[in-house]
Amino acid sequence: MKALVFTAPGIVELLDVPEPDPAPGDVVVQVRAAGICGSELHGARRPGFRKPPLIMGHEFAGIGAGGEAVVVNPILSCGRCAQCRSGLRNVCEQREIIGVHRAGGFAERVAVPASALRPLPPGLPWEAAALVEPAANAVHAWNQAGAALGAGGATGARVAVIGCGAIGLLCAAMALSGGAGTVDATDVSPVRLAAAERLGAGVAAGGLSGGYDVVIDAAGSAATRAASVAHQRPGGVAVWLGLAEQDAGFDANALVRSEKRVLGSFAYRDEEFAHARAQIGNWDLSWAAGYPLAAGAEVFTGLMNGGLHPVKALLRP
Ligand SMILES: [Zn+2]
Ligand SMILES: [Zn+2]
Repeated sequence: MKALVFTAPGIVELLDVPEPDPAPGDVVVQVRAAGICGSELHGARRPGFRKPPLIMGHEFAGIGAGGEAVVVNPILSCGRCAQCRSGLRNVCEQREIIGVHRAGGFAERVAVPASALRPLPPGLPWEAAALVEPAANAVHAWNQAGAALGAGGATGARVAVIGCGAIGLLCAAMALSGGAGTVDATDVSPVRLAAAERLGAGVAAGGLSGGYDVVIDAAGSAATRAASVAHQRPGGVAVWLGLAEQDAGFDANALVRSEKRVLGSFAYRDEEFAHARAQIGNWDLSWAAGYPLAAGAEVFTGLMNGGLHPVKALLRP
């Protein structure tokens, strides 16, 4: 079968590879759409958790063994550690991710544990189905903010979203459908800002001003992390999902003096993945573009080198 394989730092290639070899408990999924994630573009440039040779792809949907439409929850957890026992599978001590620690969805077929399969709402387009996984990240970030703000959660909150890639856009969509008072989005790209506007967000083209109850950093650079603290009202909360840089770069004394808060947000709990499955069909997804798997190497390389600019690219085997 054909697969897009990460073969060396900065290199992905469309190759003929052996069919997946399912282990006991695995099922083979025929992939219909698989999103290319920003974390994969970074990971291919600077191999860390992802080690070549690897078929990446952790955001995908397809057809299960019984012919049913499924989306894959790629978080594999041990089920035994303290986090797993309290329902926090996303921060399992033994956490592995399909497409990172084992072969993922940039292929015609992939073997995954049967326990990773989730049913899809009838009639959901494949492009939308492949966006369930990133949307679940947005659901979790929104819940993190709500939990931090206490009774009433983030309902009515003044929200800012920094970075309007797929994750930032989905965070804006989640905040709007989750009862935020206002959502302002910021990005350096006018194309991405236009996509945020189509979702119903206000656009802070000249940058954020004033203090927000919730600031979501979907970029993760030192500069955006600093902005997430600077534009947070005293006692507000910043939720960080972006992973562009390791450096924090924010004013730590402002955290102390104004009781500002910063929360990390990684992946999602099972009920948040379910919420994303139910919601994704209601959101504007016109910023995502599908490409044949056969064009995968050009698409991935174009995104990695900045020459190709869809907000989100989905491979369609
Ligand atoms: Zn992703
Ligand atoms: Zn665990």
